[in-house]
Amino acid sequence: MTTRLYLEDAYLREFEAEVQESAGGACTLSRTAFFPGGGGQPPDRGALAMGGEGGETLPVAAVHEDDAGRIWHAVGRELAPGQRVRGILDWPWRYALMRHHGLMHVVNTVAREAFGGIITGVQLGADRSRIDFRLPSFAREQIGELEARVNAVIERGLRVTSAIIGEEEFRARPELVRTLNVLPPVVDGRVRIVELEGFDAQACGGTHVHSTEEIGRARVARFDNKGKDNKRFYWELTG
Ligand SMILES: [Zn+2]
Repeated sequence: MTTRLYLEDAYLREFEAEVQESAGGACTLSRTAFFPGGGGQPPDRGALAMGGEGGETLPVAAVHEDDAGRIWHAVGRELAPGQRVRGILDWPWRYALMRHHGLMHVVNTVAREAFGGIITGVQLGADRSRIDFRLPSFAREQIGELEARVNAVIERGLRVTSAIIGEEEFRARPELVRTLNVLPPVVDGRVRIVELEGFDAQACGGTHVHSTEEIGRARVARFDNKGKDNKRFYWELTG
């Protein structure tokens, strides 16, 4: 099984690993900091470097997880099992996604607590993230209030932490599940919970900033009212 370094340390940009399998121009590694995509967060990008100083560097064009839980790094050619590689993340891309990911936790909690919204979908982007709600009573005139509430939470500089809980505790706390159409990340009877200190906890397998302060200021770039069961917001970070 691949060790998922991004779950332990979302700020890890480079790592050493060994190639395990190679097929179809992609490889699995003994350990990886590359997030394979999931829960609305796109996969990481970056490179694998080989042979130390001046060695060859292969761009990682795509990363995905297969049904067996293996994480594949598409590098365009076969690599020998046992080959030592150095993984290097496209950090500006990943860090932007971490800020947007933290923002989406704040937005979905504020929408739920202040407006009775239920999140139905999310797609993170490095520039702009989309989030959908079942939010019957929300009107365009309330966007300013939503933005102000979201930014007030961000400015509190809440610590963001993660913990693993058992499936039984998870089932007993239905408030931990937010998305109606994304399966909760239960692996071997354990679930990862991401907490914004004293504000919110929810099941999530993605990567986040350490503090809400790192998110910066947020604004709604676009709002589409697609009826009471579908309010779509596009969020941007301005600072
Ligand atoms: Zn998350």
